[in-house]
Amino acid sequence: MKPKDGLFSGRYSREFIEVICPTCKLTKIICVPKESIPKCERCHKDMIIKEILTEGKY
Ligand SMILES: [Zn+2]
Repeated sequence: MKPKDGLFSGRYSREFIEVICPTCKLTKIICVPKESIPKCERCHKDMIIKEILTEGKY
């Protein structure tokens, strides 16, 4: 995966990932690359990827 392709390359056309706020541990599930990594609703900090929910695993 080349850096210029961003965090998620086109190879993974649709993935659900679970993101978590490092401060308050609020989690959220988003669909990438349609949605970008959100900011925490409570503390407005950038959330980080907790887990990638791939097909078959979840
Ligand atoms: Zn937070």
